[in-house]
Amino acid sequence: MPSAIRLLDETTVGQIAAGEIVERPLSVVKELVENALDAGARRVAVAVARGGLDAIDVLDDGAGIAREELQLAFARHATSKLTSAADLERIATLGFRGEGLASIAAVARVRLVSRVASAEIGYAVTAFDGTTSQPEPAAGPPGTRVTVEGLFENVPVRREYLRTPAAEFARISTFLSTLALGYPQVAFSLVHDGRSAWIFPSAQSVEQRLQHVFGPGPAAALVPLARANAGFGGVRGFVSRPGYDRPDRRMQLLFVNGRLLRSTLLAGAWTAGYATFSLAGRQPYGVLFLELAAEDVDPNVHPTKSDVRLRRPDRVAAAVKAAIVETLERDAGGRLREAVSFAPQAAPIDSNSGDWSALRLIDDGALESPAPRVLAQLDDTFILSLDGDALVLVDQHAAHERIAFETIVERAKRGAPSEPLLVPYVVELEPADVPRFEAVRESLAEAGFVAEPFGEGAYRICATSAGYGARTFDLRPFLADAGDEIAGLSPRERLWATLACHSVARAGDRLDLAEMSALVARLAQCTNPMHCPHGRPTLVRIGADDVARMFKRT
Ligand code: ADP
Ligand code: MG
Repeated sequence: MPSAIRLLDETTVGQIAAGEIVERPLSVVKELVENALDAGARRVAVAVARGGLDAIDVLDDGAGIAREELQLAFARHATSKLTSAADLERIATLGFRGEGLASIAAVARVRLVSRVASAEIGYAVTAFDGTTSQPEPAAGPPGTRVTVEGLFENVPVRREYLRTPAAEFARISTFLSTLALGYPQVAFSLVHDGRSAWIFPSAQSVEQRLQHVFGPGPAAALVPLARANAGFGGVRGFVSRPGYDRPDRRMQLLFVNGRLLRSTLLAGAWTAGYATFSLAGRQPYGVLFLELAAEDVDPNVHPTKSDVRLRRPDRVAAAVKAAIVETLERDAGGRLREAVSFAPQAAPIDSNSGDWSALRLIDDGALESPAPRVLAQLDDTFILSLDGDALVLVDQHAAHERIAFETIVERAKRGAPSEPLLVPYVVELEPADVPRFEAVRESLAEAGFVAEPFGEGAYRICATSAGYGARTFDLRPFLADAGDEIAGLSPRERLWATLACHSVARAGDRLDLAEMSALVARLAQCTNPMHCPHGRPTLVRIGADDVARMFKRT
């Protein structure tokens, strides 16, 4: 039998509410550090004992709390950050719910010492279980220091969910160093059991912090984000170079208006931004800082404020994607120029010879720069070439695939007419393949690849897309690959990438010097010359210094 309904007492209410906010030592650190940042601190010093299970201490040099307000700060729903419900529509601070301190004091013993800059001395209060002591004078510099002890001693069941002190400390350290990325001008330090774990001095840039958060190797592969040209607030950040990735999205960090989010809000923008730059199943990493108008962000969707709702998520995602794409293209272009520095003695390119005339399909403009000098073909698969001071190895298939893919995309965009074949040829499909081919036939035609039904299970190929007429296109292996996932590509682009792959020089095709020169030259004009649409590298550069190292000369 259920008993009669009654109102819960204050203590129980407090603990229930606190349960949402204070889950583990990290939650306490988060609430206190957010308060310090909201108070304009330039320095935040965190010290914890036994992973925070025994004690958590957060010291800041922010605005402080006046004596008269010390007790109020611990009252539930007491905040200086909102004045009316209308303020909820444009929140500019990390806190706003007025339940951080109250929630901590519901599940731990808290001592808070604070001094506002204008006062001669500070005051201290202690709070626990719904009661806050009278303020007493206490010495200290301007700012606030909060010490939390005995976390969950009054709710033992909560303790059971905690991990070892080392694991709880690791969470705190990761969170704090990651949050610090968003506040480079603020000095942060973390002490564990009396020993310094790390110190971030106040800085203009976030470089040192990037190294700490991502590790020195991965941090070195981060590229600063190009300015988004879309008309919306702003996005800054760092994203990993193609080829540097991780198995999961955990290191796709996102700040919105200074708030570190745990959401995968922009996962789609990352994926789309790296389409054709990354390998299937791998994830790029980096950190994005979005600055949006306060009224375009609603952080009031989660008690711990670790998620937000955006007013125009599609627009934001599109702008972020554009910024990533621009960054990667610019970076790839820069690295190609660096990888292939175009020796003055380069052989003239006759791009009209052989099958490779097709390489000039997109535009017939003059080549921007002479290509590196092609020396030889290795194993009918790799092109050996030389620029001023480096050996450049090109994977002929990957390179050609990239060129063909960009050609196809470009032509489809322009609706360029396809190239009719002088001698159409007929292919016959297995009955099972006919519906699969029918499903993609229209998208193929958009890309210039025209196939007409030609009787039972047969098709006549009348025109091809990238103009590789001389190579007979084999439909069957194409259909077998057409369903492959390629990270971030739409089904149509995926089809085109597969079409590109099947239209071009394979590993094992012998090419003459002119063909190879044309291929390398055309590669240099691609938007993303460094990777094929599947994300594999197209070229590798071995500099004189690399060679010297192989010969142990350095
Ligand atoms: P909220 O952060 O949502 O306002 P809190 O319970 O965390 O709620 O804090 C209540 C109030 O106490 C804050 O609004 C702020 O005025 C004051 N406060 C808390 N911590 C600090 C601090 N470190 N420095 C200055 N003021 C603080
Ligand atoms: Mg707060």
